[in-house]
Amino acid sequence: MFETDVLEVPQSARTGSLPAESSVRTLLHDVHERYRDLQEGAVADYIPVLAEADPDLFAVSLAEAAGPMHTAGDTSALFTIQSISKAFVLALVTDAIGHESVHEIVGVNNTGLPFNSVIALELNNGSPMNPMVNAGAIATTALMPGRDGAAKFEAIQEGLSAFAGRPLRIDETVLESESASNHRNRGIADLLTSYDRLRIPAEDALDAYTRQCSLLVTSDDLAVMGATLAAGGVNPRTGRRVVSAEVCRDTLAILASCGMYELSGEWMFEIGLPAKSGVSGGIVAVAPGKGAVGVFSPPLDRAGNSVRGLRTCAYLSRALGLNLFASPSP
Ligand code: GLN
Repeated sequence: MFETDVLEVPQSARTGSLPAESSVRTLLHDVHERYRDLQEGAVADYIPVLAEADPDLFAVSLAEAAGPMHTAGDTSALFTIQSISKAFVLALVTDAIGHESVHEIVGVNNTGLPFNSVIALELNNGSPMNPMVNAGAIATTALMPGRDGAAKFEAIQEGLSAFAGRPLRIDETVLESESASNHRNRGIADLLTSYDRLRIPAEDALDAYTRQCSLLVTSDDLAVMGATLAAGGVNPRTGRRVVSAEVCRDTLAILASCGMYELSGEWMFEIGLPAKSGVSGGIVAVAPGKGAVGVFSPPLDRAGNSVRGLRTCAYLSRALGLNLFASPSP
């Protein structure tokens, strides 16, 4: 169960808009103060180089769909986007080939199992259950338009940069570390091939996927990327349309059911927002029409979600009235 400060923060009913900019800024500062000394969770180490992350790093950013940006903490810290890329690659692929074609290859239901589960794929006859676990994400990456793996990754890098509103580059050290240790993902990609779910060589799909996970972002980038989904596909930093409003809706629906892995139900129960996390410690939580929160803090819970990130999102969801399921009493 998630530990959240349920009783300490007033549970606001969902609001139609964010409060005034000054109170959002104050709240961000407060939440950063509140959780900066929280010492829970453990930094991921199954990708060797991630074990070197500084557990004290903690950054919170909130990008409003209307443009303003609010920040607190180590917002200049760069970290690899990891699984959060899955959300935005899904959006790009859905925009390019359409809702139906994506749905033919990957499902939309939670596996109830860890993100790198092999058995989840086997139990579903080789059809990935959803695009937020590794099997579904590798299959989704392979659907990106492009003549080969390299061209697909190039389109993904460009698309993720459009979501962030600035060019994103690869962390070569993380890429090398993960490429040398991702035997499990290799097994998953080969299994997808054995079930005839990949139209390109498993090695190429895996390489493009590992590269997308190695793109460097800041908490500000995550907030802007999320705010683009919150603003019907138009990036509030650049004013550029990245994907259609329908694609944002589809993507957020999948994040709501599958974004936080096997703890997605608990996340929805406590926080009530579509969100995605990654093993390097990032979380993006999206409040449709309002904006998005980007948090970074490396120590993780057992499912791979940032502990400070989780508490921060719970606090902000309550304090800002973001929970999608809350309504004011008449
Ligand atoms: N690159 C990581 C992997 O495939 C991403 C996992 C994650 O962030 N949960 O294992």
